[in-house]
Amino acid sequence: MSRGLVTGLSILLLLGACTHAERTTINSDGLRPLREVARSLAMTVKPTGFPKDRLLVDRDGRSFYVMAGKSYYRFMGDRRQFPGAAGIRVAGKDLLIPNEMVVAMKRDLHGASVAAPTPAPTPTPTPARESAPKTRSLKGLKIVIDAGHGGKDPGAVQGGVYEKNVVLPIARRTIHELKSLGVEAIATRTGDTYPSLDARVALANRRRADLFLSIHADSASRRSASGVGAFFRADGARGRQSRKLAVAVVDGIMARTGANNRRARADSRGLRVLRNTRMPAALIEVGFLTNAAERRRLIDPGYQSQIAQGIVDGIKSYVAATALRPTGITGAR
Ligand SMILES: [Zn+2]
Repeated sequence: MSRGLVTGLSILLLLGACTHAERTTINSDGLRPLREVARSLAMTVKPTGFPKDRLLVDRDGRSFYVMAGKSYYRFMGDRRQFPGAAGIRVAGKDLLIPNEMVVAMKRDLHGASVAAPTPAPTPTPTPARESAPKTRSLKGLKIVIDAGHGGKDPGAVQGGVYEKNVVLPIARRTIHELKSLGVEAIATRTGDTYPSLDARVALANRRRADLFLSIHADSASRRSASGVGAFFRADGARGRQSRKLAVAVVDGIMARTGANNRRARADSRGLRVLRNTRMPAALIEVGFLTNAAERRRLIDPGYQSQIAQGIVDGIKSYVAATALRPTGITGAR
């Protein structure tokens, strides 16, 4: 609390703005400090792992994504453009948001219709998640996040967009968020390299990970195909856990993005990362590169952050529902 106040004050000093802290600080350019905007919207500012962008999240899981240099923000994945506005700016460790964006954010939160219409069939975010206990900590869990493909293997390629380059930042954002929750999040790759599928599996097994998630993007000959889905291996006791994990992660991403729900399905292809890992595992397809509109969203850092946030939400509800504890620790909280 007091630290927040001190930081807030130091930002005001930094800007040389008025010193009547607390309420509205609009500087001469019509820009407002993000932290103050967050307070006025009753939202929390979350770092994304990248210095220039932030996510604002409220208690109902609604979110805004903002990025320095841009004259738009995203509300639950939908872009709100402000062609006339000054761009979002960096100021010390905070960002400055044009006041007209803040006004629109308020309208977004209070449901008044504003600008960009939402894409037609918006699936209803699952209200069941609301009632799930949210309090169980992820601290101490070991989770392997596998960005699919890499290096010599581009994965799907469409309109100049490579799957390997889309899934990597999503994995990085997911890992960053998990680490902030005390998870030992392990990446199978951190750059444009190609660890073999066996090497990815071996890493997860050797480190005795609690969960394994592989992140991919989809492609289809039908260009209109879109949405989020997942695969899991269905047999055995681990199969039941893997199914729950896959379902929870798809639900988590749905709630953040409003994407088309293609659901979690049992793998019939014998995907190696699902077959040979020894912990609950799922392969997530975050969207279709063959769908032009979805492809545009998938390369947007804001949308990538929302997917990452959705994956983490899914892991949280999986952990809450299954009472998963860190490997080798019993009865500890
Ligand atoms: Zn793939």
